[in-house]
Amino acid sequence: MSPVIFEVVTPERKILREEVENVIAPGTEGYLGVLPGHTPLLTTLKPGVVSYRRVGGETEKLACSGGFMEAGPGRVVILGDTAEPAPEIDIERARRARQRAEQRLRERPPGLDVARAEAALLRSLARLKAAGAD
Ligand code: ATP
Repeated sequence: MSPVIFEVVTPERKILREEVENVIAPGTEGYLGVLPGHTPLLTTLKPGVVSYRRVGGETEKLACSGGFMEAGPGRVVILGDTAEPAPEIDIERARRARQRAEQRLRERPPGLDVARAEAALLRSLARLKAAGAD
């Protein structure tokens, strides 16, 4: 089967465009894999790790904080809120973000936006996991 073009874009920038053999992404209902010839699909994504295998190459990882994924014949596109390829992830920054979020959720100061702190925690955990530092 012919390879699939995999594109990841965010409002800030184009993250990648590669020929791949598969993509596994964190759909809102759970991780899902897309292979060439997959039935057309549109899904929302939750924060997590996207993995994909380059044609004839290695499996690569990137962190994604949520967004949408559209899969059609020959093409898979992720429109991410944010996305970082594993080698670009600043692990110390993600650790600090995790600590901040965990502390806020533990201490629950008055006026804490719990959903925002939880979302920040999930973003940091996705980055640490994609970077292999969890
Ligand atoms: P922080 O509190 O460290 O800023 P955040 O989760 O609030 O983390 P976002 O608002 O999701 O950050 O992202 C802002 C920008 O910074 C995006 O371009 C995102 O790709 C980038 N970014 C966030 N955290 C990291 C990281 N640990 N390594 C590399 N880029 C990051």
